[in-house]
Amino acid sequence: MAGPDDACLACRIVRGDHRPPGGVLRLEGGLLLHALADPTPLAGWLVITSERHARAWYDLDPPGLAALGPAAARVMRAQREALGAEHVYAFAIGDQLRHFHLHLVPRYADTPQRLRGRGAFEARAEDALPAWRVVAAIESVRRALPGG
Ligand SMILES: [Zn+2]
Repeated sequence: MAGPDDACLACRIVRGDHRPPGGVLRLEGGLLLHALADPTPLAGWLVITSERHARAWYDLDPPGLAALGPAAARVMRAQREALGAEHVYAFAIGDQLRHFHLHLVPRYADTPQRLRGRGAFEARAEDALPAWRVVAAIESVRRALPGG
């Protein structure tokens, strides 16, 4: 049955109609954690997505808002500890996908300058990592999370 959110990639991920590499991990507060659904140049580029179709951060419900900060910090610590990221960027832009999602993008010592910061969004097709590296990274993060 067609619904208003059928075209929303995040809603498709929530429903299980689209499976990002490595699958989806459920966090508290109605939040999901998954790898970037598009080809990624950086192992461990993860996304926190609201289960509910909220337009943006300002439309999250109170449980989601309460959970978001601690959950994001735990994931970032796991990206640093399990993947060896020097730093993790957080981006919530929402111009193209109008369903709340927070990109948690690791930066490594060997990340080229052009892929640092918002440059990560300007990756070229040849920068894309093989799926097995994407899956291995999210598995490492999953194991490093409390209860993982
Ligand atoms: Zn949606």
